[in-house]
Amino acid sequence: MGDLRAALAPDRRAGRTIGLVPTMGALHEGHLSLIRRARSDCDAVVVSLCVNPSQFDEHADLDRYPRREREDADLAAAAGADIMFAPPVQEVYPPGFATSVEVLGVTDRLEGEARGVAHFRGVSTVVTKLLCMAQPDVAYFGQKDAQQAVVIRRLVADLNLPVRVEICPTVREPDGLAMSSRNALLDPDGRERALALAAALRAASERAVAGERSTETLLGAAADAMVPFGVEPEYLTIVDPDTFAALERLDRPALLVLAARVGAIRLIDNVSLAPTVGGATSPADAGSPLASHLLMGEPTTCSA
Ligand code: AMP
Repeated sequence: MGDLRAALAPDRRAGRTIGLVPTMGALHEGHLSLIRRARSDCDAVVVSLCVNPSQFDEHADLDRYPRREREDADLAAAAGADIMFAPPVQEVYPPGFATSVEVLGVTDRLEGEARGVAHFRGVSTVVTKLLCMAQPDVAYFGQKDAQQAVVIRRLVADLNLPVRVEICPTVREPDGLAMSSRNALLDPDGRERALALAAALRAASERAVAGERSTETLLGAAADAMVPFGVEPEYLTIVDPDTFAALERLDRPALLVLAARVGAIRLIDNVSLAPTVGGATSPADAGSPLASHLLMGEPTTCSA
């Protein structure tokens, strides 16, 4: 880890901007879009790779999490990374490690509730460590993990960490499935059934664009769209995008968030929703790449 600081020292001394993209590896186009964005914004780009055991709530999920470090290094370099930082777990959590970072409030709900308090504590602790080690000017995260993005913004603000946080849009497969390292674990039947998540988001988006404001109706449409796939939501709700508190009416910009298990594989996804004004989308929704992608079926990218 001292090596990372040493490797970045010349950039820092020269006043070059440093971008950090934290990942757990098994890189896909979603990760690569973050790296490309960092490349276009920053002088030096660091990609970290750490399958962080402390944020996994299930041993089986940690054990089967795909690992392909060598391939990841090539992909990251091709997307513009200068440094791939993949510290061994014992180096991240050496004997005697006793400190954790815990964001309260927003972590109580949804992912925090489903995966337990240790999940976001693990995320917050490892991200804080990575930010301290790399001391980047900008750190890049994906909207795919929307609640995680809110948690990270919170901890950066609360701890006065001198870093700008950029949240990049979710990159999808052409059929709408949000890219995820866990998709590689789906068998062909599971891959088909995983489309339940995108179908749910699309159904709710379409009704929101058509003027529906009752979250009950929007969520009903989303749940109905999942039925043909034989996939049930673990949670499916419409929340305030900053607090993740549930909303009863779509009377301001909101986020539909969804988690579901497809066989043993747990997937999450989300889409921005906004009320329509006189049949047109309100400014907050207009041009939302995710919403329009879900309607049009085209992949979104983060490259700016
Ligand atoms: P992970 O390796 O799953 O921990 O993800 C590392 C970073 O990539 C996180 O900030 C994720 O939100 C982001 N990410 C994961 N999947 C996608 C995706 N499909 N599109 C955009 N960003 C993503």
